[in-house]
Amino acid sequence: MNKLTIVKAENLKAKPDSDHLGFGQYFTDHMLVMDYTEGKGWHDPSIVPYGPIALDPSAMVFHYGQEVFEGMKAYKTAEGQFSLFRPDMNLKRLNISCERMSIPQVDPELLLDGITQLVSLDKDWIPEGEDTSLYIRPFIIATEPCLGVRAAKQYKLLVILSPVGSYYPEGIHPVSIFVEDEYVRAVRGGTGMAKTSGNYASGIRAQEIAKLEGFSQVLWLDGVEKKYIEEVGSMNVFFKIGGEVITPELSGSILAGVTRDSVMTLLRSWGIQVIERKISVAELFEAAREGKLEEAFGTGTAAVISPIGTMKWGEEQIAVAGGQTGEISKKLYDSITGIQKGVLEDPFGWRN
Ligand code: PMP
Repeated sequence: MNKLTIVKAENLKAKPDSDHLGFGQYFTDHMLVMDYTEGKGWHDPSIVPYGPIALDPSAMVFHYGQEVFEGMKAYKTAEGQFSLFRPDMNLKRLNISCERMSIPQVDPELLLDGITQLVSLDKDWIPEGEDTSLYIRPFIIATEPCLGVRAAKQYKLLVILSPVGSYYPEGIHPVSIFVEDEYVRAVRGGTGMAKTSGNYASGIRAQEIAKLEGFSQVLWLDGVEKKYIEEVGSMNVFFKIGGEVITPELSGSILAGVTRDSVMTLLRSWGIQVIERKISVAELFEAAREGKLEEAFGTGTAAVISPIGTMKWGEEQIAVAGGQTGEISKKLYDSITGIQKGVLEDPFGWRN
C-alpha cells in the first residue's frame, strides 16, 4: 500500500455549539478515504476535505448491501491531547464483519494510524463539555459498478468524524422498552454478529412501532423461538437478578460489543459475578414479579450505559429499579466515562 496523502481543506467550517450537539448531526473538516481494487489490494489512502463522493448508480452497495461499519470515540484529555477508547477492539470487529460480508480484510495497524492522523488534524472539533466526544465512523462499501449478486471487486473505505453530545437528550436516564415478539433483528447463521447496514435497516420498522406506542427502544428476542433475549435497540443488554449480573451469551446473532466486554471486565474486577448465558423473557419477567430484578441496562459506544426503567411484554408492564438509574448502572457509567476522559486511572490499558 502506498503512503497516506493529506489534502487540507481550504475553508474550515464553523464549529457547532457544544451544548447542542445531539448525535451524528455535524461532521468535521476532513475524512479518510482508501480504495480497494481486486489484484491491487487496498491502495491510495488519503485524508481529504469532507464532502460528497461520486458513485456509479450501479455500485453494488446500493443493490445488495455489501457494507460494514464501526463506531468508536475520541476524547479530549486534560493535557489538550486526545485518546481513543479500545480502538483495537473495533478494528478487530471490523475485520470480523468484513469476513462475514465477503469484504477484503483491512490492515488494522494502518487503519488505526490513518484514523489517528485524521483525528489529530481535526482535533479542534473534539468537544470538551460533559458527556461529549468525537464519534468516529469507519465504513466500507462495495463500489464496483455491476448488477449481479456476488462479492464486489472494488470497495471504498471511508472514515468520518462527528462531534457528539449525549446519545439521549436526557443524558443517563432510564428508558422504556418494548419487548418485540413479532419482528426479529437477526438469526443464528445470519449477519447479527457483523456490524452491517442491513441489520439496522431491518430493525427500523419495529423501532418505529415501539415509538408510536410510546417506548424508546425495542428488546430483541432470538429469531427462532422468540423466547430468549438478545439485544436492546443497538446495544447489548445486562440484568442484575438476585445479586448476580446476567448478559445473553454471544449466540452468533448478537454483536460482540466493546462496551459489553468493558462492563464485564469492570464488574468482575469489583468482585461482582457476571454470567453469560441464555435468558428468556419469561424468566426475566418472573424475576421482576418476584422482586428479584434489581437493575437492567443497555451498553454501547453511543450511550455507554442506558438504564432500563420500564419494560412491556404483551399486556404486562414492569418497572425496573423503581424507574430510577440503578447503583451499578451509575457506577459503570461513571467508571467508563472517567477512564475514557482520562479523569480516572486506566487499569486495563484501554486508553490509546
Ligand atoms: N449491538 C449492536 C447491534 C450495536 O449496533 C452496537 C453498537 N456498536 C452494540 C451492540 C454495542 O457495541 P459497542 O459497545 O461496541 O458499541
